[in-house]
Amino acid sequence: MDEKGVAERTVLQLLEDYRKKDIPFDRVLGSMCTRPHPLAVKVHMQYIETNLGDPYLFPGTKKIENNVIDMLGKLLGEPRASGYITTGGTESNIQALRAARNLRRISNPNIIVPESAHFSFDKAADVLGLELKKAALDEHYRVCPASVEDLIDEGTVALVGIAGTTEFGQIDPIDELAEIALSNNVYLHVDAAFGGLVVPFLDKKYPFDFGVEGVSSIMVDPHKMGAGTIPSSGLLFRYESHMEKLVTSTPYLVSKKQHSLTGTRTGASIAATYAIFKHLGYEGYRRIVKHCMNLTSMVEKWAEKFKIETFIKPVTNVVVLRIPSVDNVIPMLEERNWYVSTTFKPKGLRLVMMPHITEETLKMFLADLGDVMEKN
Ligand SMILES: *Cc1c(COP(=O)(O)O)cnc(C)c1O
Repeated sequence: MDEKGVAERTVLQLLEDYRKKDIPFDRVLGSMCTRPHPLAVKVHMQYIETNLGDPYLFPGTKKIENNVIDMLGKLLGEPRASGYITTGGTESNIQALRAARNLRRISNPNIIVPESAHFSFDKAADVLGLELKKAALDEHYRVCPASVEDLIDEGTVALVGIAGTTEFGQIDPIDELAEIALSNNVYLHVDAAFGGLVVPFLDKKYPFDFGVEGVSSIMVDPHKMGAGTIPSSGLLFRYESHMEKLVTSTPYLVSKKQHSLTGTRTGASIAATYAIFKHLGYEGYRRIVKHCMNLTSMVEKWAEKFKIETFIKPVTNVVVLRIPSVDNVIPMLEERNWYVSTTFKPKGLRLVMMPHITEETLKMFLADLGDVMEKN
């Protein structure tokens, strides 16, 4: 800051210049985020000053949050689920595991996550003082239930399954994990950050939600496949008593307790999520998912034609291509203004077919990819 401020016009110009350096979504084929729905943007602005850190002052916005949780609960197989909207998948994972840890209160607690788990679990384990055990995957990059069972011991406070893994978009066998959880009396958290708004709208059905007995909590990010505004992640508990393990008393506020990790928190993205859920309905999301899965099949067909392996047959709208020297290909694509990503182990070119991608964009991209590979 300087002593004297500058004109609004000047500030806006400065920011416009910064913004131009960002990559427009049209050129992004490797992110799990997308351009928010225009209605979400509008509503976000309408609710910009709301703060659910103090629901006493924002009872209307608080009602919206409860409504979103009810809608998510209904979508995910338990209309009576409790929960709240967090700042993202990371907070949701931390909070779910915090509830699981607090339910047991034992010394040297551990959790078991698939090797494919998002790095937010590393953060969660560090913050919560949990030992993180990683279970092996099968040849389809799904967690291996036998490996989970082997890792369980008296210190295990939670198992984690993933519906829509970050790297491959794969869905873990949640029903098998649930059986293990039930027979060992252990908490089971499902990370559906990406898949929670994909899997329910696929033609093929997968057991992954509260419909599976033994699933204790689920989280899903409307700021990913929901086309909501950032930050928005729904964290849902089957039992209110589990959510109550997150309670902190807030003595100097009129509302006497809160469950969230953050204090001051926006209601804007929550209202935005409410708006698009209401506006799109199941039909709207089914249409979006269908579009994304069509793009996914286009990539698969292209790969087949050029004899490129995809590691797994895509389950959700993520395709990973086995491309020789993928690290050389990335900068060559960047030169042509395409932004993709890679998987880490095994290394592959990772494409996420998000709603902002059109068939035309994808065709142009695949033509460039073929060209770049030939030149490489
Ligand atoms: C993106 C992602 C997360 C983390 O979510 P943020 O909103 O980025 O904090 C967690 N789990 C999975 C499977 C994800 O894809």
